[in-house]
Amino acid sequence: MAQAAKLQPHFHPKGKPASQHTQAVLRQARADLPFTDTKDLEEQKRGLIAPMKAMQIMADAGHVAWDMERFQFLDTQDFDSIHPSLLRQARLNNNYGLYEVIPGIYQLRGFDLSNMTFVRGKKGWIVFDTLVSAEVARAAWQLFQKHVGEGLPITAVIYSHSHVDHWGGVRGIISEEDARSGKITVIGPPKFMEATIAENVYAGNAMNRRAFYQYGRLLTAGAHGYVSQGLGQAVSAGAVGLIAPNMTIEKDIEEVIVDGVRMIFQNTPDTEAPTEMNTYLPDRKALWIAENVTATLHNIYTLRGTLVRDPLRWSKYISQALYRFGLEAEVMFASHHWPRWGNARIQEVLRAQRDLYANMNNQVLHHANQGVTINEIHNVYQLPKSLQKQWYCRGYHGSPEHNCRGVIQRYLGFWDCNPATLIPLSPSESAPLYVEMMGGSATILARGKELHDKGKYFHAQEIVNKLVQAEPHNQPAKDLLADIFEQIGYQQENPGLRNSYLAAAYELRSGIPQGKTASSSSPDVIRAMDTEMFLNFLGIRMDSRKAEGMRFTINLITPDNGGKFLIEMENATLTNLPGFLAKNPDLTLTIKRTDLEQAMMGKTTLEQQIASGTAKAEGNLKVLQQLASTIVDFDPRFEIMPGTKAKTPETLEHADAYEAVPCPAVAE
Ligand SMILES: [Zn+2]
Repeated sequence: MAQAAKLQPHFHPKGKPASQHTQAVLRQARADLPFTDTKDLEEQKRGLIAPMKAMQIMADAGHVAWDMERFQFLDTQDFDSIHPSLLRQARLNNNYGLYEVIPGIYQLRGFDLSNMTFVRGKKGWIVFDTLVSAEVARAAWQLFQKHVGEGLPITAVIYSHSHVDHWGGVRGIISEEDARSGKITVIGPPKFMEATIAENVYAGNAMNRRAFYQYGRLLTAGAHGYVSQGLGQAVSAGAVGLIAPNMTIEKDIEEVIVDGVRMIFQNTPDTEAPTEMNTYLPDRKALWIAENVTATLHNIYTLRGTLVRDPLRWSKYISQALYRFGLEAEVMFASHHWPRWGNARIQEVLRAQRDLYANMNNQVLHHANQGVTINEIHNVYQLPKSLQKQWYCRGYHGSPEHNCRGVIQRYLGFWDCNPATLIPLSPSESAPLYVEMMGGSATILARGKELHDKGKYFHAQEIVNKLVQAEPHNQPAKDLLADIFEQIGYQQENPGLRNSYLAAAYELRSGIPQGKTASSSSPDVIRAMDTEMFLNFLGIRMDSRKAEGMRFTINLITPDNGGKFLIEMENATLTNLPGFLAKNPDLTLTIKRTDLEQAMMGKTTLEQQIASGTAKAEGNLKVLQQLASTIVDFDPRFEIMPGTKAKTPETLEHADAYEAVPCPAVAE
């Protein structure tokens, strides 16, 4: 312990080491977990051709886009403030370099949250997924070319699904021109462009804020802070770009020859992503399983927030992959983690993962049908022991706790059916009564400290959280709650849970950091947003309370793509209807969609575009000012824990009224 503390001082002056209770919990976990099973370690190492020597990759903008140096501490010793299973996964994710999957198939691992994979085609290289940002993708491509690329060009790019860690780096390896001209085939699953952004628009600001918790964005890497993200070490911070596919796989199962390689695509919609596909290479008996099967229990519910995913459907598609391809496949490789070799191992992993999602769906509902609620299920549901023993079924991205609550949310929603929770007081309203009834701040602090010292952290958080809710400026209360959260965080196997507890501890101790937040979205991401989605989002940004009594109708026409929209402000509500125009609108606005994007990006304003003639306006221009007067900028630094507010909100850059500002696309 003394040695650990010396090597890894806490990054925060108020931070605490792991308590004896936490150490005991982690010792028990170490004893219970199947550490004798070392197959992952062999598979992770297998096929290494060249390690990546440069620990940092710079962004073109001058900052560090990727930093593996900060994870080297993981290999130095064990830590009593990191769950042994998470530490094991984090060490596995320290693989960083070029690997052979089988002759002709290679993976770059450890350059980002995700992998980049190259398959040898007739004329060049077929790429499966392109990492998060251009700079890391370029660096990976250079390492690949140095050792096995033979100077051959990229002939095709295949996006497995819509999450940014599978397409954001594409501009680092191909040009838009080559995709447009068809020189390079860019293949995606159905509705790919819409899906790349749809998940992140409407609740984007809230998701962005919540991602600070799930992804521990303010935490320093180290024994008491950020350890890994489970799927990979972290998300790279270079330039995100998006090039549209020039070929879509529409059928459920579709065979295509890509640069001379026979590929069978299997669409798996509404699984890990809204649109996703596996690919089987029959001539090589190689199964690309996208992100449907990785070395983790994945998220059914995502802590940053998304619609709850469908675990039953997910399970069925894994089952389909097993019976279509998995009975003969000899290698299975994925968009995260390392491959599985040999048919027996592939079948074992596919069967267990199939059962993992099916069990969670079926057995959570089994309990729910007997009255177990969303507030209890995480303390009731347990994975079957045979699945718990498989490393690749453990919760490095989804946790059993938050996933099983997600299943109930999907089917039954938030209400536990107790009327006392149906129209509850807000925490800030109910907490003062609790504090009064418990005998006031001093009594709660004393009892909270006592529970904390006994290691009863979940009990301690119940009462100290009430005190913090009632007295947001009670710093001793916030410090005690931070200490409690920190110990719970250290005890978690799941990085999203760990990060969330440690992030809350950080903000309770230091407050939300001041300073600017990035507000500009990548032009490629704005382009992927359809006009209806943009108008829907305007309806979310407008503050209804500022629009009482307003009434107007706008026709919006975008002639270059044939778009027309009837926009109405009525009942303090902004609605839009695609495909319709009003007979007597207050204003008709005609603008090319490509020009509208300039306003959506905040590069110009609609008013300037009207003045310059880029947009044509007929009718009463005042309605645009009226609309603009209702639009609010969302600040991603809103308070989560009471009394943590950033002190200088005015440093936030003001967005233009018609700027789209969706959340930066989120990796998974
Ligand atoms: Zn991913």
